[in-house]
Amino acid sequence: MIPAQFTHIPVTTVKEASDALNHYGDDSKLLAGGHSLIPLMKLRLATPAVLIDIARISNLRGIREEKDKLIVGALTTHEQIENSPLIKKYAPIIAAAAKLVGDPQVRHRGTIGGSVAHGDAASDLSVALFAANASFVATGPNGVRTIGAVDFFLGFWTTALNQDDVLTEIHIPFAPTSNWSYQKFTIRSQDWAVVSVAVSESNIILGAMGEIPLRAAKSEEAIASGADFEQAANFADEGTSPSSDLRASADYRRHLAKVMVLDALKEAKHRS
Ligand SMILES: Cc1cc2nc3c(=O)[nH]c(=O)nc-3n(C[C@H](O)[C@H](O)[C@H](O)COP(=O)(O)OP(=O)(O)OC[C@H]3O[C@@H](n4cnc5c(N)ncnc54)[C@H](O)[C@@H]3O)c2cc1C
Repeated sequence: MIPAQFTHIPVTTVKEASDALNHYGDDSKLLAGGHSLIPLMKLRLATPAVLIDIARISNLRGIREEKDKLIVGALTTHEQIENSPLIKKYAPIIAAAAKLVGDPQVRHRGTIGGSVAHGDAASDLSVALFAANASFVATGPNGVRTIGAVDFFLGFWTTALNQDDVLTEIHIPFAPTSNWSYQKFTIRSQDWAVVSVAVSESNIILGAMGEIPLRAAKSEEAIASGADFEQAANFADEGTSPSSDLRASADYRRHLAKVMVLDALKEAKHRS
């Protein structure tokens, strides 16, 4: 459990980070909270020769309100999100998801930017941000671009970020204070989701039911055409491709998705 040798390069601006990524190329990776990357390096599933440490870029931290959205810096920790009065007021589903990430140690070190950039389909924040119609701001050598949640998650541990992009901000439109629910099923307390479900108004998003957070499109369509919650929830696993692993079989995940979508729809309605 010892990582391969690497060079550690601390940077203090986004430009320095982007330039360093560009200079060192595929052999380099950004380091934020280190709570996904370092475990992978210890297992030698990732062996970057250069780690560009962005933790000291102070303007990538914090949460502010702008017109009808929240702007969250990529280095904002899960704990800061969980306890932010602004997030609780304008995007309570995001606070609820952050509160369920790992344990307190993980929440104090792990960042929202690292969580979404890592591209794990079970990431609590990725699933909730997708449901909340968030968008992601990336700075690369050719400037700044904003990527919607629909286009951000591309495949297993793969997002729309290029190798030399720095994710700087996450934009969250003011989400409903009612009609939302975040459900997470775990084998143990304080663990990764076996399956998760985020409902925000008409969006129903599933975590850990495929390579990326997935829309339960058939359930959404059923609700839109007047089906009741039980009927709609029965379609929850359509178009998904859950895997079997030590925590659950694919069939059990399919079962969970249906049960949890039903629970989420009921809880969201109850909040309305
Ligand atoms: C014991 C344990 C339990 C956990 N449980 C959960 C859980 O229940 N739910 C959950 O969702 N997560 C869980 N996590 C993961 C945790 O949320 C991580 O904090 C998160 O996935 C990664 O954030 P980080 O800041 O640590 O990123 P890092 O590990 O530093 O980086 C992760 C990846 O993102 C890239 N990256 C980081 N920041 C940026 C950026 N600004 N721009 C571009 N690329 C970037 C890195 O290069 C790397 O590839 C757990 C982790 C551990 C160790």
